[in-house]
Amino acid sequence: MKWETHRRITLEVCRYYGIPYSEIIANASTKPDESPDYHVTPTVGGYLRKVRHHAPSTPEVILVYLAEARRRFLYGEPFAETLGRALHYLQDLPIDPAEHDFLEEVLEKTPVDLSAIRSAREMSIPPHLFKRIVKAIGIRRKPDEIMWAACFLSSLAVKMVINPDVPPDVRKKYRRARILNIMAILLPWILTPLGIKFVVMAIILSFLIWLLDIFEISTLKFDYLWAGFDYSPYTAKNTTMKDIKTG
Ligand SMILES: [Zn+2]
Repeated sequence: MKWETHRRITLEVCRYYGIPYSEIIANASTKPDESPDYHVTPTVGGYLRKVRHHAPSTPEVILVYLAEARRRFLYGEPFAETLGRALHYLQDLPIDPAEHDFLEEVLEKTPVDLSAIRSAREMSIPPHLFKRIVKAIGIRRKPDEIMWAACFLSSLAVKMVINPDVPPDVRKKYRRARILNIMAILLPWILTPLGIKFVVMAIILSFLIWLLDIFEISTLKFDYLWAGFDYSPYTAKNTTMKDIKTG
């Protein structure tokens, strides 16, 4: 996507949410083209791989940037560049790489889709669903669909940073789920004095209860942390803020 298109979308979205320094975020939304991000892979020697703008792994990087922007927002630190970078990748994501150059040209003249910005604001989407929504929207071929997707995702991302749709009572639900989970994991161990067979059974059952996440701890935890309770940085399987280098 061309820089001016990134700027136009970001500016409209930030203005829609009443962010006072929308211009700064709009300028930051071209940063990944000027100074790319590199993913530090955890192999020996810290092998660096450039973060691609149209790849399936990109949503992970976006989420790391959004979580960092959210943390900065909660702590009153500047978050324009982190949010701007996340928005850039989100806006690039729906573009079909096979038709990249043609689509870029058309998108430059396609108006920003205000209805998409509004829809994302009006829909209640808890933070844990973000990555699933990014994947569901996927790659698009028609310019107006790409514009819709870029505006919708940008709007959702800005909302995630400044006013996320955290489910009510998430704090209470998360704590209750944790207690229930511990009780469920310990329950099979009651029978272990009866013999070694029961110990083996207890190990298997406890592991299954933990694995199946029947109380949806991971989902509740994600929203709980995103809300800002007991803040700890978002960590994905392989990526944290420390794993991204800019240069
Ligand atoms: Zn790009």
